[in-house]
Order: sequence, then structure tokens, then C-alpha cells
Amino acid sequence: MSILENITSSKDAIALEDKHGAHNYHPLPVVLSKGEGVYVWDVEGKKYYDFLSAYSAVNQGHCHPKIVNAMTEQAKTLTLTSRAFYNDMLGKYEKYATETFHFDKLLPMNTGAEAVETALKICRKWAYEEKGIVENNAEIVVCENNFHGRTTTIISFSNDPVARKNFGPYTDGFIKIEYDNLSALEEVLKSNTNVAGFLVEPIQGEAGVYVPSEGYLSGAKALCEKYNVLFIADEVQTGIARTGKMIAVDYEEVKPDILILGKALSGGAYPVSAVLADDRIMGVIRPGNHGSTFGGNPIAAAVAIAALEVVKEEKLAENAFELGELFRDELNKFIPHTDLVNSVRGKGLLNAILINDSEDSSTAWDICMALKENGLLAKPTHGNIIRFAPPLVMTKEQLLDCVSIIIKTLKEFKND
Ligand code: PLP
Repeated sequence: MSILENITSSKDAIALEDKHGAHNYHPLPVVLSKGEGVYVWDVEGKKYYDFLSAYSAVNQGHCHPKIVNAMTEQAKTLTLTSRAFYNDMLGKYEKYATETFHFDKLLPMNTGAEAVETALKICRKWAYEEKGIVENNAEIVVCENNFHGRTTTIISFSNDPVARKNFGPYTDGFIKIEYDNLSALEEVLKSNTNVAGFLVEPIQGEAGVYVPSEGYLSGAKALCEKYNVLFIADEVQTGIARTGKMIAVDYEEVKPDILILGKALSGGAYPVSAVLADDRIMGVIRPGNHGSTFGGNPIAAAVAIAALEVVKEEKLAENAFELGELFRDELNKFIPHTDLVNSVRGKGLLNAILINDSEDSSTAWDICMALKENGLLAKPTHGNIIRFAPPLVMTKEQLLDCVSIIIKTLKEFKND
């Protein structure tokens, strides 16, 4: 019997992963075998609303026909050349993406963490070759409670003990300041001439969907300009229409010096990430400085073009904006009638509810289990926060149906 045939139940699939896979995740016990648009199905055939979208990678909905078609057609034609040779798709993608986001150049990678690493390297090289910082002295300012991935360098400036502990020694050259605090940023920029860049998430997603005060991003960008420091926006989670704009910094009309994209850049079909910057910055990268065997491969290029086209053609940013307002309005009407939820926050369709219990309680997890029973899949972020991020192709009717599932679940929930 083929290995592909022997999974008949969720229980079997979970047992298989438990036995043969590293335990680096703690998934909700549901085994998905099919997805279409805003829906996913488990191996027993039960249908759910996906309210996580693979951490905002599936903004365009599961198995979007245009993206799947672009991927399969390209897969039949040419999959990988490496960058030892040119391919006839990468340039088209680079032109389309740089025009879409208004930058001179794009550097293609695969995962979000790789793109963050790429941005950090570009920033450091720019610091030595353009800003004139003495070699090996550059510092990059980051925010507390950030999440930028899990490579060795990135966890070096994380303050999540689970991601950090026992993975040292850590990479030097990072200064952590409070998020959403312009005075803290100015203080460090003023007092330290070795600062090369400021790396920031426009909304802190993993930390629990923390939306900074209005004016924070534009204020931070202005400070970066004043002190000749690169403003690096990590839009891996917030980008590609998720928050109701093509990228979240658009809310404050900020053009980052370096823009980092991933996740929904491929519609969740394939790992595609990118770093965008203008020539004055990207020009520091020369042959051999950086690369990846798969980065910029023809499938990735075809998929990313299709994924961006879908966002524009289907007006997903506008839809995320409108449905996000509706979602928060509906939950805000309900919250005064429950003791279980303190608040809802977010932008567009990147939202979270704050559960009225301690951070180390299992209440958020238990609510997610109850939501699953009622046909909606979501996951806690940190402790007592549940992130709600459905695909952006959702209709108003579907969203209202989801709101009623969430409210019904919260009303019936018993905290033992
Ligand atoms: N940056 C941000 C803001 C993220 O939210 C994530 C993933 O959640 C990453 C980077 C890392 O992306 P990846 O998991 O593709 O490496």
C-alpha cells in the first residue's frame, strides 16, 4: 500500500506526525485535506471557515484558480534554473512588483525570515559603504515583542523566551526599544551615531495584533530621515491587502527605505518573499553578496505575479477594509454583554480579541477548540489573545455568518 493512501482519520494523521515529525509546533487537533476560497475541510469531510489564513499567507483564498493555474502552467514549462542563468519570468515579476510597490529594485527570496535576514544584510552594507559607519559597528534598532522569524540572527533580538532560550550565542548589533514609542526611538537615534536602521512591524501580528498609535509610523520615518537611518518595514504579515491597504504603512503615506514582503505575496501557494528598495540602497548588493538557489525561480515569479493581480482585480484591500470595520463593529456590540472578552482590535482583516483571563490560562485555546466544533478555525497568538484573520475574498454574508459563530461560541462557552 502506498504511504499516500493510509490516512483515514484525523487521529491517524495526528499520530503519524507525532511519531515521525519534530514537535516544533502545537497545532489545533484538526487535519485539513482540502481548501477552497474561505473554506477548508478536514479528512472526515467537515467544513470550516478558515479564520487564520495560514498566518495571513492565504489572503487570496485557498487554491485560487488563477494562482493555481499560473503555478501549474509554469511547473509544466520550467521550474528552476538557479540564478546561475537568467530565466524568462523573473524580470517580468520584478518589473510588476517594483511598479506595484514603487521601488527601483527587488531581491527575491523564499520565506519571510530569509527576507528579513536579507534586509538586515542590505542595511548593514549600506551603513558601511554609504553612511560611513566603521566596519562591524553598525547597530539596528528593533522593537520589544517583535516577531520577524526564527533564524539565529532574528531570535537574537527577540524577547520571546520560547524562541530564544538555549539557542545562543546570539548575534550582536541590535538595540531593542519599546514599540509605539517615538521618544524612545529619538533617544537612541540621537545618542548613537552607529545606528543604521530601524526594523519595525507596522502592526505587531504575532505579539497579539498590537496596532500602534496614529502617527507612529510616519513619526518614525521622519526620525529615520532626520538621523540618516533606514526605515525597514516588515510587512510579511501586514502586507498584500491584509490590513485594508496594499501595505499597512500606506495608512500613514510612509515609503519605507526597505520593504519586506512574504506570505501572501504568493497567495499561500508557494514560498515567495521579497525585499524592495531603491537603487541608492539596493546598489550596495553585488554578485556573490547574497542569494538563494530557489529565490526568484520561475514558478515563484509566475505565482507572485498572479497573486498580486488577484489582489488588484478583486479589490481585496478595499474588501478587507470594509469587512474589518464591520467585524469590529459587530464584536464591539457584543463585548459589553460578555465577561469573556475584554476588547477587539485590529485593522482591516487582521484582528484579535483579548480574552478576560490570565496570560497563562488555557481559556483562549479552549475557545478555539469550541470554535472548531462550531466550524471556524482560529488560533491563540500569545496566551490569552485570539487572532482572527480570514482570507480577504470573504463576502459580507460569510463574515456575518462567522460573527454569529463566534458570538454563539462565546455565549455557550463554559470556563471550567
Ligand atoms: N515577519 C513577520 C512580521 C512575520 O509575521 C513572520 C511570520 O509570521 C515572519 C517575518 C517570518 O516569516 P516565515 O515564517 O515565512 O519565515
